[in-house]
Amino acid sequence: MAVRDPLRGTLKEGEEVLLVDRKGRKFLVQLRAGERFHSHDGIIDHSAVIGHLPGSVVTTTKDSLMLAMRPTLADRILEMPRGAQVIYPKDLGSILMYGDVWPGMSVFEAGVGSGALSMALLRAGASVTGYELRPDFAARARKNVAAALGRDVDFSVEERDAYEGIDGTRFERIMLDLPEPWRVIAHAEMALVSGGIFMAYLPSMDQVAKLREALSRSRFGLAGTYEVMQRGWYIEDRAVRPDHRMVAHTGFLTTARLLAGHLRSFRSLTFSPPR
Ligand code: SAH
Repeated sequence: MAVRDPLRGTLKEGEEVLLVDRKGRKFLVQLRAGERFHSHDGIIDHSAVIGHLPGSVVTTTKDSLMLAMRPTLADRILEMPRGAQVIYPKDLGSILMYGDVWPGMSVFEAGVGSGALSMALLRAGASVTGYELRPDFAARARKNVAAALGRDVDFSVEERDAYEGIDGTRFERIMLDLPEPWRVIAHAEMALVSGGIFMAYLPSMDQVAKLREALSRSRFGLAGTYEVMQRGWYIEDRAVRPDHRMVAHTGFLTTARLLAGHLRSFRSLTFSPPR
């Protein structure tokens, strides 16, 4: 199942555009001819944006300038309406790489939350089956995914509790972002193909310790835990230094693979991100 072709060329009626003011504030706006965007810095007619190339500068009624850009997936994730806390782009990139997600791959995800991880998986071409406890979050995720990727993606969200079981036995990846992922391990052993990859995102180390302890008693091997640090730099003339502020902590990523046998021989092997 293909993700909608990327939008190219001029900004079109109906698409969502990212307006950026001179202070760097960002606004995600759906373009509709006849409608107007209101900000502190004045008003912009959507028709002054439609038909222009992304990267164009538009002037508000108060003579302020704004940039009109096509949002990246990372922009969307940070600007979209959120029910639950999302997984940040730096972690999503790592999940796609070490989770080794391919087009057409069958992925189980829980909880779906606002759909940020779903969007990353779907755009990498995966088929995603998600469980989400809260109907309002499930509805929000469906809307966010449709707004970002259209409806031609293979995404289903069921309002279900992942601790109670997973329907299906042929998932190739299992991606968890819920408080007690150790309660999903036994279900994951049944639902995942042998060799399949398990990944869990957890904000706190006591949760990681519990998960690793449970994984060490399971059919999973090659377990590993890491975090992704990203530090921006300030570069202007001769002032070249790290940014004063950074997002110092989001979450820890734990990965493991389902093994078919000889577990004891490989128990001591762990996953470590390649250096
Ligand atoms: N990864 C998501 C955010 C998930 S937030 C994103 O990137 O947008 C965690 C979600 O897990 C919440 O929406 C919560 O309702 C859901 N959840 C918690 N326990 C669950 C369970 N047992 N089964 C399914 N979903 C669960």
